Amino acid sequence: SMASPALLMRVVASAYSVAEKAATIVRNVMAAGDLGIVEKAGPNDLQTKADRLVQMSICASLARKFPKVTIIGEEELPTDDVTEDLIEDGHCEEILKKPCPAQYTGIKEEELVIWVDPLDGTKEYTEGLLDHVTVLIGIAYGGKAIAGVINQPYYNYEEGANAVLGRTIWGVLGMGAFGFQLTEAPAGKHIVITTRSHSNALVNECITALNPDAVIRVGGAGNKIVQLIEGKASAYVFASPGCKKWDTCAPEAILHAVGGKITDICGNPFQYNKEVKHMNSAGVLATLRNYDYYASRIPNTVKESLVP
Ligand code: AMP
Ligand code: MG
Ligand code: MG
Repeated sequence: SMASPALLMRVVASAYSVAEKAATIVRNVMAAGDLGIVEKAGPNDLQTKADRLVQMSICASLARKFPKVTIIGEEELPTDDVTEDLIEDGHCEEILKKPCPAQYTGIKEEELVIWVDPLDGTKEYTEGLLDHVTVLIGIAYGGKAIAGVINQPYYNYEEGANAVLGRTIWGVLGMGAFGFQLTEAPAGKHIVITTRSHSNALVNECITALNPDAVIRVGGAGNKIVQLIEGKASAYVFASPGCKKWDTCAPEAILHAVGGKITDICGNPFQYNKEVKHMNSAGVLATLRNYDYYASRIPNTVKESLVP
């Protein structure tokens, strides 16, 4: 008889369905119109009712199925008395049918860390820039991002009322990434994608030094990695602290699964073990191709201003 699917594939298959439920919550909160906005660190660090409900939904749903896995979510909220309507217990059957990469078949629950950004691009969500929003569930093992799910709740929203809204992209290292069409950026052009709402002098100094052909300013770490793998931009450059481990874990796994590379601005890989500090203090540099081209052009003055 068939052996039961490996833990990693069961977690990814569940995370897929949990992310789809999350997307429904994100759309429902916006449609109801009361965002319940709370300022966390300040006016550029917001939390809405959607961030809160989705955090509870994702963390409680995954904790119920995988009680020994460490789950770290962006929003500090209790998961013990979550109402049943927020629980998703389904999974994606198609993912469960795929063989787990051999190096991950022996993973135990205690060895996994799940990094959850319930709503990435909250600032843009509150401003109606809905296609910037993603739901991020990243899965780490041995300090490395090895699998991830990115849901875009408003994918297709500009296509009109008949379009199917939303999509889910997922990936596993050694297996690839699915749910989108991998596309190369225009050859010979340097298109930099960066923050829209968290710019500062250093962020801009770094971009200027790269002498790009174009700069795209949009919200969300998840959104920017999707733009890279769909060929809309050639490098994600953010020379500032502010981005956290839950912003990069799922995007990193998917980008690495298709041969891209993400590090901090200084070239250091990110660590995702449960003890790690949450802040990516030395910023973000990510590409699908030509990582070295961009890395070699980051000024030393910028690197020296950012301490990992
Ligand atoms: P952005 O590209 O500005 O959308 O940032 C990507 C992710 O990092 C989002 O989750 C932001 O909320 C977060 N982030 C970046 N910079 C800051 C900051 N200065 N304060 C709070 N969050 C930030
Ligand atoms: Mg975020
Ligand atoms: Mg968030």
